[in-house]
Amino acid sequence: MSECLFCRIIAGDIPADKIYEDEEVLAFKDIAPKAPLHVLVVPKKHIASLEDLEEGDAPLLGRLQVVLRDIAREQGVAASGYRIILNCGKDAGQVVFHIHYHLLGGSPGLNLD
Ligand code: 5GP
Ligand code: ZN
Repeated sequence: MSECLFCRIIAGDIPADKIYEDEEVLAFKDIAPKAPLHVLVVPKKHIASLEDLEEGDAPLLGRLQVVLRDIAREQGVAASGYRIILNCGKDAGQVVFHIHYHLLGGSPGLNLD
């Protein structure tokens, strides 16, 4: 069994509130939401962080962003706006070392000001 939390969620060993799934991508609600809408979008392929990304993974990351965009539309935050975040490494606060985007939306004040 994998020791990676998100690999275990992908495998179905740990439950998650899934909102999108295809062959390459899984999206589920963050367990500790920082905004009314807080979704994590992950590739099913285990990539620990952006530092571990290989050249051939670039289309996969592009796919993740298309999925994020579609989820934002479906969840009704596309018009009001949303933010995507990818934490890489310790100083960024990355806790789960399976690459993921955060999608935050549903309230004002999601900017970096
Ligand atoms: P990071 O800081 O690595 O970018 O973000 C990891 C995120 O995973 C955090 O926002 C945290 O709340 C979320 N998280 C941690 N454990 C679980 C879990 O078991 N289930 C879900 N759905 N989210 C989790
Ligand atoms: Zn993993």
